[in-house]
Amino acid sequence: MSFTLAIVGRPNVGKSTLFNRLVGKRLALVDDQPGVTRDLREGEARLGDLRFTVIDTAGLEEATDESLQGRMRRLTERAVEMADVCLFVIDARTGVTPTDEVFAEILRKKSAHVLLAANKAEGRAGESGLLEAYSLGLGEPLALSAEHGEGMADLLQALIPLADAHQEQAVEDAPRTDVDIEDDEVELPDWTPTRARPLQVAVVGRPNAGKSTLINRILGEERLLTGPEAGITRDSISLTLDWEGTPVRLFDTAGMRKKAKVQDKLEKLSVADGLRAVKFAEVVVVLLDAGIPFEQQDLRIADLAEREGRAVVVAVNKWDLETEKQEKLRDLKAEFERLLPQLKGAPLVTVSAMTGRGLDRLHAAIVKAHEVWNRRVTTAQLNRWLGEMVEAHPPPAPGGRRIKLRYATQAKTRPPGFVVMCSSPDKIPESYSRYLVNGLREDFDMPGTPIRLWMRGQG
Ligand code: GDP
Ligand code: GDP
Repeated sequence: MSFTLAIVGRPNVGKSTLFNRLVGKRLALVDDQPGVTRDLREGEARLGDLRFTVIDTAGLEEATDESLQGRMRRLTERAVEMADVCLFVIDARTGVTPTDEVFAEILRKKSAHVLLAANKAEGRAGESGLLEAYSLGLGEPLALSAEHGEGMADLLQALIPLADAHQEQAVEDAPRTDVDIEDDEVELPDWTPTRARPLQVAVVGRPNAGKSTLINRILGEERLLTGPEAGITRDSISLTLDWEGTPVRLFDTAGMRKKAKVQDKLEKLSVADGLRAVKFAEVVVVLLDAGIPFEQQDLRIADLAEREGRAVVVAVNKWDLETEKQEKLRDLKAEFERLLPQLKGAPLVTVSAMTGRGLDRLHAAIVKAHEVWNRRVTTAQLNRWLGEMVEAHPPPAPGGRRIKLRYATQAKTRPPGFVVMCSSPDKIPESYSRYLVNGLREDFDMPGTPIRLWMRGQG
């Protein structure tokens, strides 16, 4: 029995789009007998190494005499019965609607395993909807973009333990056979693959910054990944390797660019690659050429990485060519603060891709940035902190009534996002929000990651 996932949710949230992305062309044949309503579609899905059956309930829009509510309820209940796990999808751009709440209610009652997904979450437009999704009481929502293929790795990560549990159950249920497998018939890889997904890193920067040299240097020094995929896995856009003990998937923009032959296409292509790389990555390494640092293109991509909520590490390459290293470093740091204030505290590492110097520090900075990006602060800590912040510097009192900050909680990670409940959220000046964000960054040691802050009113 294959593991089965049902995609449920109100019309137009993107269920079919997600279904198509998961199933591709491997659509199962549907029994097309007359009189049978084809309201559930089924297909064989593939996500990473995981194969499973997926059911789409996107037949709801078709007009029938039955009320939408009733039909929805019936379909959803059927899907729940058929599936091991329900993926409940909402639209991150619209936020939570009353219909979503009806669904949540049904699922909370009927389904043992529900995963919540906020689709259309690409870019910033989906952030508030993602945040609202917490209110459904179905756990942490996955941020997906079915259309752009984002969040699929997170979906996979969430499904793996559920699929494993299903597998174990299936093995227990299976009739026992008398065939023994000799231990030594099974060859175990010396690199034991863990379920941990490789850390997704993109190296971006202007042409000639040294991206290819850097990637080749990292590759040259490291043992290639062995294990199930034996040897290095390399596709046109990425390569996976073991970098000082950390499984890393490197997004190789330089490799792509080198394939372009026409010179004037080069610039354009590298910008587009940079954008794709940023979307794919958890940590973005902005590689600068020490000789010409912080060019317009570098600033654009660093800013984009921040807006997309990625952790950022700045690496200054060709450091071997610098003579006045101390002075240069001081200047670079000052320039960085001035030009990219939104990335305050992001690590700046000097490297030489050519000699390999500084790569250990680059590795450490990437791992740390990723850790910070995933950081979770407890509500107790946050509220103690909020009290101190307010005491040190109270919020303004527009019209004589002081704004009250009541309560803070961390709503999300990757990157960290916080909600502060307060009396008049729309009256909080930008400068006060900045004060809080800077405080969070310093007091909870979260350099180099974008921090999101939402001020919310009660109710
Ligand atoms: P369903 O009714 O839930 O099956 O929704 P569909 O899959 O038909 O999608 C409804 C609309 O949302 C279509 O216009 C899709 O192109 C759009 N859509 C689906 N996924 C995404 C997404 O990730 N981002 C954005 N912006 N639009 C999406
Ligand atoms: P890409 O376009 O970003 O992939 O850049 P490349 O890796 O092709 O490097 C561009 C040029 O810079 C090549 O001539 C490299 O040899 C040189 N280069 C790269 N890294 C270093 C470095 O750390 N030090 C020095 N001196 N030259 C470097």
